[in-house]
Amino acid sequence: MRNVLITGASRGIGAAAARLFAENGDRVFLNYRHSQGAVRKLCEELTAQGGEVYPIQADVSDSQAVKTMFDTLHSNGISIDVLVNNAGMAQTKLFTDLTDEDWHTMINTNLSSVFYCCRAALPDIIRRHNGRIINITSIWGQIGGSCEVHYSAAKAGIIGLTKALAKEEGLSGITVNAVAPGVIQTDMLSPYTAEDLQALRDETPTGTLGTPEDVARAVLFLASPDSAFITGQVLGINGGMV
Ligand code: NAP
Repeated sequence: MRNVLITGASRGIGAAAARLFAENGDRVFLNYRHSQGAVRKLCEELTAQGGEVYPIQADVSDSQAVKTMFDTLHSNGISIDVLVNNAGMAQTKLFTDLTDEDWHTMINTNLSSVFYCCRAALPDIIRRHNGRIINITSIWGQIGGSCEVHYSAAKAGIIGLTKALAKEEGLSGITVNAVAPGVIQTDMLSPYTAEDLQALRDETPTGTLGTPEDVARAVLFLASPDSAFITGQVLGINGGMV
């Protein structure tokens, strides 16, 4: 049974991925920062369906908290086979209004977290010579989003990290890929008005917004044997928006 760690699995894309991996027969560790109640409820539901799932708290923007999370896993004899770096935050603000704190919070939450988790997970994976890392970036990391410069920079950083790490770990039997969602219906869209959402639909060739399951299926694919020869890639799940 594979051990899968999904960061930010309390809701949205992370929760949808947790469901799919649990249904796939993997042992899933659902990381969260604040949403203990939501993760507990999801774990109860998936356990009742026969899944093997465990909540694990850590603020992944904090290097020491990530180390503690992995120490807890190791002390329970768990090493991670599949790491899904999904935790993230968004903020819409004019570039000239961004504070140092806005910048550092964004970079630490979306990008440094990926570095901390990959660094902590890799020694075990390298030893076993088999593993998968899937990083959730964003279409804005590919094409840039107005009033989301710090978010776009963090997500572009994930793409660079993914491509470079894939090269470094290729001979170690590890694939490293990124999934770049377009506009997906989760809590992250809560600041948008109905008109904003319609404008985003209109910009999307399919005329629809994506679902968390659309993204989760791509993540599961990148962790499956069918994707063994795919590494260093960015898979867009965006309804054709470019
Ligand atoms: P969401 O519904 O807002 O969920 C965000 C998740 O990240 C929550 O589980 C949250 O946990 C967790 N999280 C945030 N900061 C964390 C931290 N420091 N440590 C641990 N967990 C943390 O977001 P989503 O839409 O599912 O987004 C998931 C990923 O997809 C993000 O990386 C996002 O940037 C990316 N993405 C989303 C869209 C979209 O349109 N929705 C588009 C492109 C990319 P708590 O609840 O415990 O705080």
